Amino acid sequence: MSTVAGLSSYAVTEANSRGRQWPEAPPTGRSEFQRDRDRIIHSTAFRRLEYKTQVFVNHEGDLFRTRLTHSIEVAQLTRSIARALGLNEDLAEAIALAHDLGHPPFGHAGQDALNACMKDFGGFEHNLQSLRTVDLLEEHYAAFDGLNLTYETREGILKHCSLPHAARLGELGQRFINGTQPSIEAQLANLADEIAYNNHDVDDGLRSGLITLEQLDAVSIFADHRRAVEAKWPGLGGRKLIHETVRLMVNSMALDLIAQTRSNIADAGIRNLDDVHAAPRLVSYSDAQLPRLRDLKVFLRENLYWHYQVLRMTDKARRIIGDLFSAFMADPRLLPPQYQLKSREDKARAIADYIAGMTDRYAIKEHRRLFAVGEIH
Ligand code: MG
Repeated sequence: MSTVAGLSSYAVTEANSRGRQWPEAPPTGRSEFQRDRDRIIHSTAFRRLEYKTQVFVNHEGDLFRTRLTHSIEVAQLTRSIARALGLNEDLAEAIALAHDLGHPPFGHAGQDALNACMKDFGGFEHNLQSLRTVDLLEEHYAAFDGLNLTYETREGILKHCSLPHAARLGELGQRFINGTQPSIEAQLANLADEIAYNNHDVDDGLRSGLITLEQLDAVSIFADHRRAVEAKWPGLGGRKLIHETVRLMVNSMALDLIAQTRSNIADAGIRNLDDVHAAPRLVSYSDAQLPRLRDLKVFLRENLYWHYQVLRMTDKARRIIGDLFSAFMADPRLLPPQYQLKSREDKARAIADYIAGMTDRYAIKEHRRLFAVGEIH
């Protein structure tokens, strides 16, 4: 069933790609999707991910995941699984590296706060903002705004989208309206994101001391893997026990996804990319795995994301973003000159773009510059 070296017949290839918005000469020495990946890595938004929160604010500790290390872990998982399934690894990697480019500072609290601020101005969705970043906001090339990525990478970046927004996105928004599916590479990057954060949040949560090994005994997917590690390595404790357990969990989630996806592809009789678009979602966990993952997510939500120390941080983040937005809306002359210029076309959107581009520490500094009495500039 192989058409291009090592690829399944249902993989995205350069031959079945819908190409780029602005025509460009084909790359030399690398594929179109490798070129996408390279452009993403060299973008400004990608470098900013280093100072954006995943769960813990960047300055809370040097060992916690940031949005950058999270994105690298998602790319690693996506590549491994893509290779096992004979998919286009380069495309899958590009999607994974770009998936959080539009995320505002302070993790989900930042997204929710900015969305609330933008309620009367079309809302704020971080997936859509990732697309906006690669399509419009990056200023790197003379011939076009944005990075001029391939259709398939852009399709993968846009994993969710509300119907009103989809209607304005032309071809790219169609699937949200007619219920078709994106490439398997895109579906995969979406679930690899979930595997990455469910596991690294357990690791970071334990490292921070906000959750404990004893609490995790009630979560079967963790407890079972911990028992397996202890059976093999009696007496193992500390960081090694945690890492071995998390490592096994990542592996078992990836293997379950690969096996179930393979069987979904076979059952649906998928032969090519058109079949992929028309079929129900093909990348999935097994029925046995789903409730175990749900338990883990519920545990993380109740014990880590809603931990009072995390909530204090997210509450502060919400206030910072709300304050910045209100101050700029009240007087756009407080914006840096390039955003003042953009704010003449669409004030609220220009302000949202400015805030979404901020790193955690930049937002904190900007808040201090605007609100702290005694700050000069
Ligand atoms: Mg993510």
